[in-house]
Amino acid sequence: MRLARFDGDRLGRLDGDQVVDVSDAVIPHPDGGRLHGWITSVAAGTTPSSLAAADGPRRRLADTQLTCPLPAPPKIIAAPVNYLDHKQEMRVEHTVANLGIFLKARTSVIGPGDTVMLPYTDQRFDQEGELGVVIGRRARNVPVESAMDAVFGYTCLLDMSLRSTEDRSTRKSFDTFTPIGPWVVTADEIPDPAALGLRCWVNQTLRQDCSVADLVFDVPTLVAYASSVMTLEPGDVLATGTPQGVGPVADGDHITLEIDRVGRLDVAVSSRDAIPYAARVGAASTGPRGGSNG
Ligand code: MN
Repeated sequence: MRLARFDGDRLGRLDGDQVVDVSDAVIPHPDGGRLHGWITSVAAGTTPSSLAAADGPRRRLADTQLTCPLPAPPKIIAAPVNYLDHKQEMRVEHTVANLGIFLKARTSVIGPGDTVMLPYTDQRFDQEGELGVVIGRRARNVPVESAMDAVFGYTCLLDMSLRSTEDRSTRKSFDTFTPIGPWVVTADEIPDPAALGLRCWVNQTLRQDCSVADLVFDVPTLVAYASSVMTLEPGDVLATGTPQGVGPVADGDHITLEIDRVGRLDVAVSSRDAIPYAARVGAASTGPRGGSNG
């Protein structure tokens, strides 16, 4: 199934070029909306029915305003340097195997058609196209062999990044810095995520083109590893890492991420509310070479 949120918090099952409104079959999660509510009830074994069989009003997908599928994931867990070609382009020493994972703020998510808001006028921001993994059940210390049982589905994910000196969780947690969507595809439709191709364009230029098979930590290893650090919860989102081809984005750019059998996510980029880096809170405390106030 492909499950999408639309018109605020309606939940739809995609059927060809149509969206079937299955909202009535689902109790919304208080923060995370109807898709999160569905994932939670599947995890708890309390789903009254199957969404695959649910029917409801139909509308054309082309005429439907999709919204962020998971607006309040409990956690966004991300893999740094999980493709060797990206390790090379960044000229860094370690991969996920030595760096471990990091957290992005859950408040950084936006959805299809939304806009990435750059916070600074004079810093470099890169797009990182990634396969997003949505967790379907509580998982702690799961072995690699059964880690896929914890996966609910997949989505396209952009790990937007400030290239500067701050820790990753700062550089990648600005509001709007985790676009996800346009929907979530359930895991049964993708028996082997390693078989997926991923492509990312900025405007009309293809920047990233890779196979998920090239991951250093493949999906089961990443899920198992993450679960050895922190308890995974239904609705958590894993950013699996980006291949080579990251590059700067600027005001007015348009980013498109396409993953085979998952979907195509489009977002815009704006610097409308951006400020000079030296005008950020606390810049004056960075020492003599720091902010504009010395
Ligand atoms: Mn990343």
